[in-house]
Amino acid sequence: MNIRTLTFKGGTHPPHSKKATEKLLVEKANSPRVIVIPMQQHIGAPCEPIVKVGDEVKLGQKIGEAKGFVSSPVHSSVSGKVVAIEARLYSGGGKVTCIVIESDMEDTLYEGIVPKGRLEQLSADHIKTIIKEAGIVGMGGAAFPTHVKLSPPPGKKVDTIVLNGAECEPYLTSDHRLMLEHPEKVVFGLQALMKSMGVSKGYIGIENNKPDAIEALFNAAKAAPEIEVVGLRTKYPQGAEKQLIYACTKRQVPSGGLPADVGVVVNNVGTAAVIADAIRTGMPLVERIVTITGKGVKTPKNLLVKIGTSFRDVIEQCGGLTDSIGKIISGGPMMGIAQFSLDVPVVKGTSGILILSEAEARLPEPSNCIRCGKCVDVCPINLMPINLSAYALQDKFEQAESHHALDCIECGSCSFVCPAKRPLVDSIRVAKREIMAKRRKSQLAQNK
Ligand code: SF4
Ligand code: SF4
Repeated sequence: MNIRTLTFKGGTHPPHSKKATEKLLVEKANSPRVIVIPMQQHIGAPCEPIVKVGDEVKLGQKIGEAKGFVSSPVHSSVSGKVVAIEARLYSGGGKVTCIVIESDMEDTLYEGIVPKGRLEQLSADHIKTIIKEAGIVGMGGAAFPTHVKLSPPPGKKVDTIVLNGAECEPYLTSDHRLMLEHPEKVVFGLQALMKSMGVSKGYIGIENNKPDAIEALFNAAKAAPEIEVVGLRTKYPQGAEKQLIYACTKRQVPSGGLPADVGVVVNNVGTAAVIADAIRTGMPLVERIVTITGKGVKTPKNLLVKIGTSFRDVIEQCGGLTDSIGKIISGGPMMGIAQFSLDVPVVKGTSGILILSEAEARLPEPSNCIRCGKCVDVCPINLMPINLSAYALQDKFEQAESHHALDCIECGSCSFVCPAKRPLVDSIRVAKREIMAKRRKSQLAQNK
């Protein structure tokens, strides 16, 4: 096995904390009695419900129609009856319109769920339509609609697809298990992505703390010379788009630019696997692998969970919570979103549910900056987090903008290494929000 090991500049080394689940087979989670399916599970415009209260629905049936190009439809993950359509809490923050379905526990399949044909016989446009209609979005957490990524702006020529199998977030092992247990799906999905864009080169980038996954993908891709499996140095945030592209192709996405600017589209390995399902079986995105871990849960697991299952139901299947709960996070500790309720549903982007104990979650008090420069050294985007944070804390958002605050990928590396425990990424996030709000306002004024 001849595998190159590549990386990027900057980055940091948080403890992996993956031992609790990395060797555990994915188990199928119990089907819940009630599921709650948000109409907003993706970046872009929310869906509109196309069923009403009292309707019977089947497993895989479309229940929310995408509104706008940057949007993605949603499907029922059970068969049963729609009992409510109302605003409910969502793990992304706030409330969104949700379709609540009482399951009949039969999982009767929707008639339209049929295999889409052999990959060789599908045209590029047909593959894109299958991906769009199956409601497929980025499974790494960002949940950007995949069909939009596959339609770069005119004039941008994409010649490479990179699959992200880095899974650099501590604690999470859902991608690792997927690559070990279904490597052929990942390879098939990558081939479908490549065909949909007329691309002849594909990479699968995997951090080298997962040698078994590297080997599994290497073997699965043996008969596909157009695909290269690349070992990546274990370093956070190795799975961030720009860092991954640089590691695999040595191409640098410009400030403010997109991967398509350097001829690349990046997708998660989980996205490739659900594309394989959508083509081979016709099943849209109605379930995903979730890692449930941390000292706050009794029995950590990797579970295949139906979209719409509540965090509470999922945690109960892991033996419930321990007595010491400090924080519940949707996703990993570096980029995940803290939750204040367990009554939120698993959505397409829920890669993990991390339950930290009180001791793990306790944040030290910030002290004065000692100007050590560590935050600057680790920033993978070559930003000056110390300065950006200072501008943000003084409401000097224009200066933050001119110092490229919007390029910050919110990886949290700067906050992680800061010996003074300054709230760097939190303050930069505020600056980004303010800059975007100002841009939107001036855009609106121009359009009047
Ligand atoms: S400034 Fe942004 S991109 Fe740079 S290390 Fe901090 S969070 Fe990451
Ligand atoms: S790492 Fe923290 S203490 Fe060091 S320069 Fe950056 S903000 Fe200051």
